[in-house]
Amino acid sequence: MTNHEIKIAFKEYTSVAELDNSDRELCAAAVEAMKNSHSPYSKFRVGAALRLQSGKIIQGSNQENVAYPSGLCAERVALFHWGSNHPDDPIISMAVTAHTDEFELKRPVTSCGSCLQVLAEYEKKQQQAVKVILFTDKSPVWVANGIESFLPFLFFEDRLS
Ligand SMILES: [Zn+2]
Repeated sequence: MTNHEIKIAFKEYTSVAELDNSDRELCAAAVEAMKNSHSPYSKFRVGAALRLQSGKIIQGSNQENVAYPSGLCAERVALFHWGSNHPDDPIISMAVTAHTDEFELKRPVTSCGSCLQVLAEYEKKQQQAVKVILFTDKSPVWVANGIESFLPFLFFEDRLS
């Protein structure tokens, strides 16, 4: 028997105000994206924004459906838009935020496993790590360079690609 231990690394900032201009702008785009969230069931709005190498910003918000599994997270709405429309313009960073009137979000909302797996796929495809910035208006900001900090056991099999 062998014991293994995995450590993850991320930075924590007190607020978005501590980030550089470029990341603050991306966080503002994620906040703006929440306006188009369609979340009448969870009342949990999520906004995501991707900064591409060209400088272009892509926004996504969670889109729910009365047939629950038919909805999609904000991150994947943005990521699949990127994959469909801008696949040759690498993703540099992704900011994700959330808000609900039901309770306070005192900690950043982390992406679900499915969104992390999709981001991992695109990191492999573009051969470049994506900076991930997670925050809410009442929480610190978590910043990680690359998806493996949040999904160390992501699924990938080179022989399938
Ligand atoms: Zn998700």
